[in-house]
Amino acid sequence: MDFGLSEEQEAFRRSVADFARKELQKGDGEAAAVRRREKSGELYREGWDKCASFGIMGLPVPEAYGGLGRDIVDATIAMQTLGRHCLDAGLLFSISSHVFTCEIPLLLFGSEEQKQRYLPRMVRGEIIGCHAMTEPGAGSDAFSISTTAEKKGDRWVLRGGKTFTSNAPVADLLLVFATTDKKKGWAGVSGFLVDRGTPGLSVGKPLEKMGLKTSPTGEVTLEDVEVPLENVLGRVGQGSAIFNAEMEWERSCLFAIHLGAMQRQLDTCVAYAKDRVQFGKPIGSFQAVAHKLADMRLRIELAELALYKVAWLKANKKRAQMESAIAKLYVSEAFVQNSLDAVQVHGGYGYMTEYDVERDLRDAIGGKLYSGTSEIQRNIIASLLGL
Ligand SMILES: Cc1cc2nc3c(=O)[nH]c(=O)nc-3n(C[C@H](O)[C@H](O)[C@H](O)COP(=O)(O)OP(=O)(O)OC[C@H]3O[C@@H](n4cnc5c(N)ncnc54)[C@H](O)[C@@H]3O)c2cc1C
Repeated sequence: MDFGLSEEQEAFRRSVADFARKELQKGDGEAAAVRRREKSGELYREGWDKCASFGIMGLPVPEAYGGLGRDIVDATIAMQTLGRHCLDAGLLFSISSHVFTCEIPLLLFGSEEQKQRYLPRMVRGEIIGCHAMTEPGAGSDAFSISTTAEKKGDRWVLRGGKTFTSNAPVADLLLVFATTDKKKGWAGVSGFLVDRGTPGLSVGKPLEKMGLKTSPTGEVTLEDVEVPLENVLGRVGQGSAIFNAEMEWERSCLFAIHLGAMQRQLDTCVAYAKDRVQFGKPIGSFQAVAHKLADMRLRIELAELALYKVAWLKANKKRAQMESAIAKLYVSEAFVQNSLDAVQVHGGYGYMTEYDVERDLRDAIGGKLYSGTSEIQRNIIASLLGL
């Protein structure tokens, strides 16, 4: 058993860290820029383009389509490293939605023609992808969606509405899930590729959120949207297979961003605990504070083990249903707890926006909701235990 990174993986990690420090960090100005973008809710397009040029958008995509052709372990390393060195969690979340919930389904289920049509432009960051499953009446019970797709001659006609779709306000390609056969339940759901500008497709204004404010989220309305038959992703009725496959990727790579953020957060807290003096001593010398930092470190260790186990299983072509539910649940809850502790260690300064500590807490809470809530992860774990 080997818990270390290979020399090649370590060199890759260093190259991502160098890129992030040089291109995405702007010293003291970076934090102010993120705060400004949070107010306007705008996606950091310059950062998006830089990440695309470096190859982030093509991490898991084969070189034939312009990508880096890296496996899921390398993708996890890259996202963790970005999480550690880039303060704009919304940018990273948008990238993650684009790569892991739109490119990965295309890679795993797309026809050669579909891959050629979309992947090279997605890898170059020229077009933005999103994934539209959730509806006002269908969240955790994802396959109870009421958006329908009806076959009419050489077209599919889509009708319905989606909500909470990350990237929708800026997306050029929407992976829309619709039911093609209501009687079959989850087996009657299919995925469709819908281009921005298709008549009948409209996207609402960005929704205001607690955190991840620089990742635009929106509602999608489909009024008799016609797409050609060849825009079905995979086979008709394969929607649940697409959804489950991408979730395993997302539960490793997306949550690696949180792991990196927790590492950055701990570095900040340790430095603060050594520096801040009360009662004539650095606050880190008080056991109550030191133990908080020790617990934060403990959670990081366990989160890292859980995430890399999923990545290793997937890289070795094994199923990771149980392990990805455990990792998603643990990492998201650990990030919320570490963020609460980070605010507590910083005292009143942690509560003030200009010290950049409270933003992690706001960003972290979403992690307990998207990609299946904490309760749903516990349900998955329990059902795999046979309960
Ligand atoms: C920041 C963010 C980004 C998102 N991005 C996307 C996206 O890009 N694409 C997309 O399709 N969706 C996206 N979502 C939607 C997300 O997947 C849903 O919010 C999530 O699945 C929960 O659905 P819901 O919000 O309708 O809550 P509900 O399903 O209504 O749940 C409400 C509460 O009830 C609990 N609950 C529900 N059913 C059960 C049960 N059986 N057992 C125990 N507890 C239960 C839940 O855990 C939760 O606590 C995003 C959400 C957020 C917050």
